[in-house]
Amino acid sequence: MTDILAVIKARDPEQREFHQAVQEVIESVRPVLDRNPEYRRMAVLERITEPERVILFRVPWMDDQGQVRVNRGFRIEMNSAIGPYKGGLRFHPSVNLSILKFLAFEQVFKNALTTLAMGGGKGGSDFDPKGKSDNEVMRFCQSFMCELARHIGPDTDVPAGDIGVGAREIGYLFGMYKKLRNEFTGVLTGKSLGWGGSLIRPEATGYGSVYFASEMLGVKNDTLAGKTCLVSGSGNVAQFTVGKLIQMGAKPVTLSDSSGYIYDEAGINSEKLDFIKKLKNLRRGRIKEYADKYPGTVYTPVNPSSDCNPLWNHKADCAFPSATQNEINEKDAQNLVGNGVKVVCEGANMPSTPDAVNIFLERKILYAPGKASNAGGVAVSGLEMAQNSMRLSWPKEEVDNRLKFIMKSIHKTCLDAAAEYGTPGNYMAGANIAGFLKVVNAMLDQGLV
Ligand code: NDP
Repeated sequence: MTDILAVIKARDPEQREFHQAVQEVIESVRPVLDRNPEYRRMAVLERITEPERVILFRVPWMDDQGQVRVNRGFRIEMNSAIGPYKGGLRFHPSVNLSILKFLAFEQVFKNALTTLAMGGGKGGSDFDPKGKSDNEVMRFCQSFMCELARHIGPDTDVPAGDIGVGAREIGYLFGMYKKLRNEFTGVLTGKSLGWGGSLIRPEATGYGSVYFASEMLGVKNDTLAGKTCLVSGSGNVAQFTVGKLIQMGAKPVTLSDSSGYIYDEAGINSEKLDFIKKLKNLRRGRIKEYADKYPGTVYTPVNPSSDCNPLWNHKADCAFPSATQNEINEKDAQNLVGNGVKVVCEGANMPSTPDAVNIFLERKILYAPGKASNAGGVAVSGLEMAQNSMRLSWPKEEVDNRLKFIMKSIHKTCLDAAAEYGTPGNYMAGANIAGFLKVVNAMLDQGLV
């Protein structure tokens, strides 16, 4: 077999995050290719790792001082074998082709696992909404959509939020799309409730991740009740992860942002979580303020020269990395396992480095890869698309029950695929294999396109 990874690396040597995501999948699906020689002849790996389309564009906008600024906009339309491209938009200064290609690639597998008809895509910009006024964010979103609108549509490509893109940004993006196209369609998900959003969509990724952890513990006849949990991030995913953990009787003790993290040994309760939501979503403040407000909490600023993240070095039972990629390295993984953590359930995309994942697998802890455990967000986005098409909205309980059912089914799919291909209990292998099979079989049915 040609060394596909070597070819990909030679072609785009700087795309390290993309190589990392591809390498993990290639290693997992080797037994599938061995069992199906046809897949090699049809070059399915070469095809699935090459985006169907990459869109790169200039985004000019004017700041509040009248200064013109220019950012870069992207949309990666990775794979449409099982449905319209679907995946979030990320606004963060670190955004580049490598990060978006890795995210789009992961999204293809994740969306396949949800059982809904969604292909995979991802997009965004190196624009940083932090510190910008609402008007600046609006002008940026409008300019971004002026170009993106040519490429998306409710049956073509349906973006959503991600880091830096929440309800405010989705509103501005949707408004501009509607004006340009003169149509009110479900072209974006994560919309506000009053105009086409789905109940439970904001909660879905965090809730889904906790449901997944609960399923994994269920296999061991255990529950989340009484478990001490480390959570990173303090955005959408982290907030609703903490909310569901509290509901399930667990004790979340950490949260973070890119400046530092808080450790609250007494546990983050509902009242403290409300404070976080106001701090982060309305005032757009920093996590440090939590420690100022709640005595007994320790705030630790980020130390860029440290070889590990101290957030992962506390006695705990479970970890829910919910901030960003590669936030758990080998040393962090050793610290987690050494501190008694038995469950690592990824809310973020690819938060653990390959060395960290190897430690989790070697030590046989319950490790859920993001493409399985954080799929609840895109699953409810899929439900939002269905409700938009029917022009009706389902009650909260109905969406939450569907979310629970989907997470349960993803959990079973991962376990079944892992067992069938000789790696029982390995959720990472199971997720990669099950997602791969669904997508490549659809690609083969549709011929060389
Ligand atoms: P938000 O923008 O709401 O929150 C992101 C949080 O992570 C913030 O606290 C942010 O801190 C922190 N963060 C971001 N980048 C870094 C960094 N480089 N270093 C340290 N901290 C960082 O995003 P979401 O909660 O929506 O997304 C979090 C993760 O979950 C991402 O990996 C995303 O891809 C993934 N995800 C999200 C889904 C969703 O439905 N929203 C669905 C599936 C996955 P600060 O405020 O300082 O930037």
